[in-house]
Amino acid sequence: MRITSPPASLVDLPQPRPQVRPAQLGPSYHTRVPVVSVSGGATGLNGSSAGQGRTTKIELTRNDHLSDDHSSTREADSKRSPERGVLSGAKGGELSEYRPRDSLDLKDIFIAVKTTRKYHKTRLELLIQTWVSKAKEQTYIFTDGEDKELWMRTGVNIINTNCSAAHTRQALCCKMSVEYDKFIESQKKWFCHVDDDNYVILPSLLQVLSSYHHSQDVYLGRPSLDHPIEAAERVKSDGSVSVKFWFATGGAGFCISRGLALKMSPWASLGNFISTAEKIRLPDDCTIGYIIEVLLEVTLTHTHLFHSHLENLQKLPTNTVLEQVTLSYGGFENRRNVVSIAGGFSLAEDPTRFKTVHCLLNSDTDWCPKLKPHHKD
Ligand code: UDP
Ligand code: MN
Repeated sequence: MRITSPPASLVDLPQPRPQVRPAQLGPSYHTRVPVVSVSGGATGLNGSSAGQGRTTKIELTRNDHLSDDHSSTREADSKRSPERGVLSGAKGGELSEYRPRDSLDLKDIFIAVKTTRKYHKTRLELLIQTWVSKAKEQTYIFTDGEDKELWMRTGVNIINTNCSAAHTRQALCCKMSVEYDKFIESQKKWFCHVDDDNYVILPSLLQVLSSYHHSQDVYLGRPSLDHPIEAAERVKSDGSVSVKFWFATGGAGFCISRGLALKMSPWASLGNFISTAEKIRLPDDCTIGYIIEVLLEVTLTHTHLFHSHLENLQKLPTNTVLEQVTLSYGGFENRRNVVSIAGGFSLAEDPTRFKTVHCLLNSDTDWCPKLKPHHKD
C-alpha cells in the first residue's frame, strides 16, 4: 500500500541555483537550499524564474480577502500541466544513497491547521478522524471560537486564537501570527501550516523534510501563481519601490525550518506579523513570502508535492496520489475537484476522497472497510 522506494525518491530533487542576492543577515545556508526540478515544466510554471517574466501587480488598497486573491490565481493553476513525474523524474543516482544527517521524527514537526468555528463540524472533524489522528501530539488547530465538546471528545490540541472569525486579511493574519508564536514556543524543528481542507500524508511529509536540516534556511511550498507577485516595499523603504517575490500558497500548505523561522522573528513574532501584513496590505501567505524572500533574502523552494484546490486535482496521476505531501478538495466553483483514487468508499460516501486516501495509507484503522485487492467504487 505504502510506497516502498527509498527516501530520496520522494524528495523533489535539489538543483544548484546561482544566488543572485547577497545574504545580509549573517551566515546562511540558503545558497544550498535546493530549487526543485520541474519535471512537467513545459509551461515554465514554478521554475526558478523569480524576478523574470510577467508580474502581477497586487491591488494594495482594497480590503483583501484571501478568496479574492486566490480566485485571481485559479486560472494560472488550471493551466498547469499535470503533476506527473515528480518522483519518477529523479535524476542522478547520488541521492538514492542519501541519508539525512540527523533522523527526523514526526514529533519534530509542528503542524498548524487553520480553521474557523463554522468549519469545525464540516471540515475539521474529517481531518481529526483521518490524518490528525496519526499526529495528535504535534498537530495544533488554530480556530476562533470555543468548542469544548470537540476537545473533550477527541483530545486534539485546539487553540482559540481569539482572532475575529471573519475571512478578512486581518483575521487570517492574526491566526498566522498566533501559529508562528506557538511554533517558536514549541521548540520543534519544522513549522508546517495547512488549511482545514488539506490532507497531510505524514510519511511523505517526514521524508521530504528529512532531506533538509532544520538549521538550514528552508521555505518549502507551492506557488499558486506562475510568476512572482509585486508589491510596494513599505517595510524597508517608503513604498515608492516595488519588489517581486514568490510565496507558497497557504491553501496547499507550506513548511519553514526552525532556523529560518527564528530569523523571521523581528517581522513575525508577538504581533509583528500583523503589522508587517498591514504595511504591505497582503494576505497571510503572501506576507510569509515577503518576510522570507524580500526581507531575509531566502528563496522559496518550489515543490509539486503540495496541493491546493486551485489546481485540477483530478489530473494528479492516481498512482502518485499517496506519494504527495498534501491534498485538498473542492473549491469555489467545483465541488467535484478531488483526487482520483479508488478504494473502500464511493464518491457519495467519501466526497473529499480523504477517507479513501486514509484507508489506503492506514488499512488497520477500525472504520476502514476491509479491502479486496481490486475493489472499485
Ligand atoms: N477560514 C478562516 N476564517 C474564515 C473563513 C475561512 O479562518 O472566516 C480559513 C478556513 O478554515 C481555511 C482557510 O481559511 O483553513 C481558507 O478558507 P477556504 O478554504 O474557505 O477558502 P480558500 O481561500 O481556500 O478558497
Ligand atoms: Mn480552501
